[in-house]
Formats: sequence, C-alpha cells, structure tokens
Amino acid sequence: MIHFEIKRDEPLKPFTTFKVGGPAACFAGAATREDFLAALRFARDERLAVFVLGGGSNILVSDNGFPGLIIHPVHRAVAIEAAENQKVMLRVEAAETWDNVVGRAVAEGLYGIENLSHIPGQSGAAIVQNIGAYGQQISDVFASATVMQARSGNVMKLSAADCGFGYRKSIFNSSAKNEFIILQLELALNRHGTPDLRYPDVRNYFNERAIESPSIQQVREAVIQIRDRKFPFPREEKGGNAGSFFKNLVLHEAEFKVLRDNIRRNFSAAESERLEQIRKRPGADGAVKVPTAFLIEICGLKGYREGGARVNEAQPLVLLNDGGATAQDVLTLAGFVRRTVYARTGMTIELEPELVGFTLKEVEKHLVVE
Ligand SMILES: Cc1cc2nc3c(=O)[nH]c(=O)nc-3n(C[C@H](O)[C@H](O)[C@H](O)COP(=O)(O)OP(=O)(O)OC[C@H]3O[C@@H](n4cnc5c(N)ncnc54)[C@H](O)[C@@H]3O)c2cc1C
Repeated sequence: MIHFEIKRDEPLKPFTTFKVGGPAACFAGAATREDFLAALRFARDERLAVFVLGGGSNILVSDNGFPGLIIHPVHRAVAIEAAENQKVMLRVEAAETWDNVVGRAVAEGLYGIENLSHIPGQSGAAIVQNIGAYGQQISDVFASATVMQARSGNVMKLSAADCGFGYRKSIFNSSAKNEFIILQLELALNRHGTPDLRYPDVRNYFNERAIESPSIQQVREAVIQIRDRKFPFPREEKGGNAGSFFKNLVLHEAEFKVLRDNIRRNFSAAESERLEQIRKRPGADGAVKVPTAFLIEICGLKGYREGGARVNEAQPLVLLNDGGATAQDVLTLAGFVRRTVYARTGMTIELEPELVGFTLKEVEKHLVVE
C-alpha cells in the first residue's frame, strides 16, 4: 500500500502531456477515500487552493506552477458485471487510464466506447468535459459517478441528469466546478451493437479497404490509426500537446450568417463553398457544427510558430510543444490564433484545456480578442 504523503515543490511538467509548466507548491497522490479526506483537510488548514490532476492531458500549467495543493488520484481498476437488457456494467476507478477501459471493453466485445479509443487521460476526468470523438461521447454510456464533495467530504452518487452533460461540458467544468472529486464511474455498455461509422474519416478507412461490416476490434484499430496522425498520442519522447486546444463552434442561424458573410467578404469562393458543405452535415437542434480547424486553416495559421510552440499542420486545432516550449509561448500562440480568427471570420473561439496557475492579468493580456 502507498503511504499518503504531501510533497513540496513537485515539478508538474512530467504529469502533463504538454510537458510545460512549473512546480506545484504541494502535491499528494490519493488512493483511498481517507487519502482524499486527509488532502482536503490539509488544504483547508493551510488555506490552499486545490486542483485535482488526472493524466494532465487537458490542461496548460503556468511557467510559475500552481501555488496550491494538487490532488492526484492513483487507484486504478476496472470491474465488469452483467446488467439488465443485454447491458454490461463497467465499474471504473477514477485513476484508471481511459484507453485501458476502451481496450478492455473491446476485448470483451462490448459496444459503446470503441470510437473513443486513444483519448489520453484518466477515466474520472473523462466525464469532466464529456469526452467525445468520431460520433461517440462518454455521456451516451454513462450510468453513474461516485463523487466526494470537496467542501464536506461526503460521498454521493450522481446520475447522468445530475451531471448536466453537453458538448465538452458537464457540471464539473461549469456550474459545480471544483465542488466534487470523481472517485468512480459506472458505464453501461452493450453486448450487441453495430459499429458507428458515421464519421467520414472512419467510413473512408473501411471503404478504402473494402470492409463492409468491420468488427469492433477493427473499429478501434481504425480510430487509433486515424487519430495518431492528427492528435499525436503522448509518448515519452520530447515535445507534447493537449489534444484540441480550441473547441469546435456550434452555431445557430444568426451566428452562422455572420460567419458566412465574413467568409464571403474576406476569402475566396472556394472557402465559401467549403462552408456550405459543412452546413450540410447533420447537426443537433438545427445548429451547425463548424470545425474550428477549418477557420484556423483558411486564416493561413497551419505551422505558425511562437517560440517552441507551433500550430500542428496535420490538425490545426492542436498546438504542439516542439520540445522547448514555455507556457508563455503556448498562451501567446493561442492568443494570436484567437485574434486572427476573430479579425477575419468574426468568430470567438474558446480554449478547450484548462489554464492552471495563471493570473487573470496574464490570461487577459494574451487571450482577449477585441
Ligand atoms: C493527444 C490528445 C488527444 C485528445 N483527444 C481528445 C478527444 O478526441 N476528445 C476529447 O474529448 N478530449 C480529447 N483530449 C483531451 C483529454 O484527453 C481529455 O479531456 C481527458 O479526459 C482529460 O483527462 P486527464 O486525466 O488528462 O485530465 P486532466 O487534464 O488531468 O484534467 C482535466 C480536468 O479534469 C479535472 N479532473 C481530473 N480528474 C478529476 C477527478 N477525479 N475529479 C474531479 N475532477 C477531475 C481537472 O481538475 C481538470 O479540470 C485529447 C488530449 C490529447 C493530449
């Protein structure tokens, strides 16, 4: 058993996939409920802000680090249980690597999360922004979460309705931010199903190979191959990234019209035509989902560089650390991308990763668009 301990001045860089940022004033790995309670008590006594750090794949840590207590879940496990209606329940501890859960489900022939293959990070964090890719999102299979209320230390179960899931959204990153520590998830997967091939990249992959009805294992392999070109999966070698640095746009009629007018005014007919093609794709509630990568690309920002940070050529939603990037480089680059996209398309693009340890002044200096 790991002994609970509070470390001081712990470097955070190795705990993030971006591989940038300074140290945490205090850091505690937590395996049991008692560990989480001890960590919360310590933070209260020392009057420290708390940040729960999973796999660090959706954050950008300031070069000055984080002045409070980092709590890092470390207990990993997946249990599989039969449930009703051909469903199978997966009980997953928060620190379990998400891709291990997908790998296990696929190996057991369970449908529902195969398109979420190779998304880095821990399973607890997966519900924070309701991870999604290639037509699936975790909320589609979510049954419940066991959470600890940070203020009281009470443990409770939350349903899907309690969690308020939306596009890259839940109560954990909006109305109840910092209120709960996610300890465990229950996911309801299907014994029977059909592969979800709605996304053109996935469909084309199988069309090219003349595979009409791929197995669930083949879907996982396809998604991994498609993704790895665009979203370099964090590995031990130098450099890093935090996946999509910007969220896609979900536009209603009036907002879409603003974008269309700006694209007609500032770009060629070919770009307007591409926007019309995007409009034809099915969207929810009459809204149009516009890939932010399209806007960054037409603004000529692919490969644009600031210090050691660069806009990925293969998928411009991703900002890359080429090896020596500072958090300052990444924020400056993100600010430049936001301002350029705003000036040429009228669209304000939102950051996807959470900024950790930055002052409001720094954020405003770099990221304000107007
Ligand atoms: C190469 C790459 C590809 C990616 N592709 C995708 C993608 O396709 N789709 C997608 O949706 N995301 C994607 N991401 C983003 C990221 O992987 C996910 O958001 C992931 O779920 C983050 O998990 P994490 O453990 O790394 O969280 P962290 O980055 O450690 O934390 C993210 C947030 O969750 C909170 N948090 C973490 N654990 C807990 C907990 N136990 N309780 C309460 N709060 C917690 C943190 O405080 C923070 O606010 C990608 C990232 C990378 C680097």
